[in-house]
Amino acid sequence: MTNFDPETIHDVEGVPIHSVHRHDVVIVGAGLAGMRAAYEASSEFDVAVLSKVFPTRSHSGAAQGGVAASLANEEEDHWEWHMFDTVKGSDYLGDQDIIETLVKEAPVVVREFEHMGCPFSRTPEGRIAQRKFGGHTKDFGKGGPVLRACYAVDRTGHAMLHTLYEVCVKNEVRFYPEFFALSLIVRDGVCRGLVAWDIINGGVHVFHAKTVMFGTGGYGRVFKITSNALANTGDGLSLVLRAGLPLEDMEFVQFHPTGLYQQGILVSEAARGEGGYLLNKDGERFMEKYAPSKMELAPRDLVSRSIQTEINEGRGCGEDGCGVYIDLRHLGEDKIMKQLPQIHELAWKFLGIDCIKEPIPIQPTAHYSMGGIPVDIDCQVLADGKEKPVRGFYAAGECACVSVHGGNRLGTNSLLEASLFGRRAGKSIVRFLRETRAFPELPSDAAEEALGEVERILSADGSEKVGIIREELQEKMMLECGIFRDAGKLEKLTGGLRELGKRFEKIGIDDRSVKFNYDLLEAIELGHMLDFTELIVAGALRREESRGAHSRTDHPDRDDDKWLRHTLAWKRDGRIEFDYKPVTITRFQPKERKY
Ligand SMILES: Cc1cc2nc3c(=O)[nH]c(=O)nc-3n(C[C@H](O)[C@H](O)[C@H](O)COP(=O)(O)OP(=O)(O)OC[C@H]3O[C@@H](n4cnc5c(N)ncnc54)[C@H](O)[C@@H]3O)c2cc1C
Repeated sequence: MTNFDPETIHDVEGVPIHSVHRHDVVIVGAGLAGMRAAYEASSEFDVAVLSKVFPTRSHSGAAQGGVAASLANEEEDHWEWHMFDTVKGSDYLGDQDIIETLVKEAPVVVREFEHMGCPFSRTPEGRIAQRKFGGHTKDFGKGGPVLRACYAVDRTGHAMLHTLYEVCVKNEVRFYPEFFALSLIVRDGVCRGLVAWDIINGGVHVFHAKTVMFGTGGYGRVFKITSNALANTGDGLSLVLRAGLPLEDMEFVQFHPTGLYQQGILVSEAARGEGGYLLNKDGERFMEKYAPSKMELAPRDLVSRSIQTEINEGRGCGEDGCGVYIDLRHLGEDKIMKQLPQIHELAWKFLGIDCIKEPIPIQPTAHYSMGGIPVDIDCQVLADGKEKPVRGFYAAGECACVSVHGGNRLGTNSLLEASLFGRRAGKSIVRFLRETRAFPELPSDAAEEALGEVERILSADGSEKVGIIREELQEKMMLECGIFRDAGKLEKLTGGLRELGKRFEKIGIDDRSVKFNYDLLEAIELGHMLDFTELIVAGALRREESRGAHSRTDHPDRDDDKWLRHTLAWKRDGRIEFDYKPVTITRFQPKERKY
């Protein structure tokens, strides 16, 4: 392998290639996972963070409701209860050894945020305030909802993200804002860096690194109705696939029960945690039928299915009958404006509804990806999805699948996961770098794949439009791979995706400049979305059971004999290949999941 030489390879017309940047650690993603890792590693090493949006605009900042930790600030709580709820919530697909780490370390991670200066809401005694959230219970599910979600009004993610940005700046983390990662350089099982596009000025940059970490977030944007930010197109997942690595449990996609009707923008579960009711168009509190003991605070998969059933059976509201209501009126103006001010503002701005006086029309919205890049408990990416590490490559947060959420994530466990495993990734990186002084060799063709992609798109002059293909993809995913799935719909979608892939090869773009070229970026993002959605659909078709958020109307029961296992999927020469691995079960044997 010869060394990368920026002077000799930039022969691509119109695309400047800039010199190589060298950092001990290069992190893609400035959400909670990426920045928590950066903060940890920057105490000892030189850390760079790339983000395609300005760091504090990462989707973590949109999180409203809270972050779970059994602090027991206002009432009794224990990590064992939190563990039980998470395992049951996951429909027994979460790995229990890792869930145990999650719930045990949660209080430490949240208190650390407090010490960094995160402005949590407070109890009258001055402790971190906690609220109720779906699926979090007392006494191994035998008691009612427990106060476990630590919050900062209804802007918890915003408070945590800004706190982290400040401590990263203090630690002199080098930020590359508005840099778009284009490809990952993995050779012979060693990660050597990555290639990125400078969105503001244009140009390809090579980042040579001893370690790379992905905290690239989720992919809600492949669905038409989603709570996710525009940036959540799952780029990291497809970069991993293109580097020949697998993805895990991609068929598990969470729909949050309450997105603003026809907008998808989130109405936090805090609204139900604080006491909001769900009503159908006839004013009936329908959760009585589906989860009589937990009602609106049953886990998300169950509440979303209940809402969708009401809609499918003709009891939905709105012009297309695809909504139901969340009613907050009985909470009163004081509580709404104090605990849920953002919900009030969003309903007013986007639907013209004053939730103090009227119920808010909502519908389920694509929210969270349980699957992702397979990693071990130390966030080390696994080349075979099981135990073989990719040297120098780590991932954490929503893009990773360390499998604490299994088939369905409980609300507030994700801010926790992103911060906690971001922290663990940072610690692993520090351990690795203490022993590894030298940079891995950078191959001479390091930038070739990325340059080729940029050049191809900048010169694309076909008749197909990126925006139209993307809309069709989002529409199809919503209709054929949404809350309820079956073989017929999924098979149709498989063909549909192939068709869209072919049309993508014939796209044309209008803007051929290099500065702030969103034509170029949207085309690259669409390529990513088409890449990994195939795995969601293929995984969903193969998994002939219903578990957690994956609900097959043609296979309505959970099948532990056959499917109590994780899916691993690769893309090789355009074909999807599967493998499976067992679920780790320690304390809680699988049982029927009832609420
Ligand atoms: C509206 C909403 C509300 C939520 N509320 C809660 C809640 O109350 N509690 C809870 O626990 N969870 C909540 N979640 C889920 C939780 O917020 C996320 O799962 C979590 O914040 C993800 O953090 P992350 O660091 O993994 O990714 P993100 O915060 O999404 O950050 C991803 C980063 O990757 C960067 N990136 C991606 N691709 C590229 C690329 N190609 N090049 C360069 N950079 C790239 C982005 O710029 C960004 O900086 C909510 C989610 C949403 C959408």
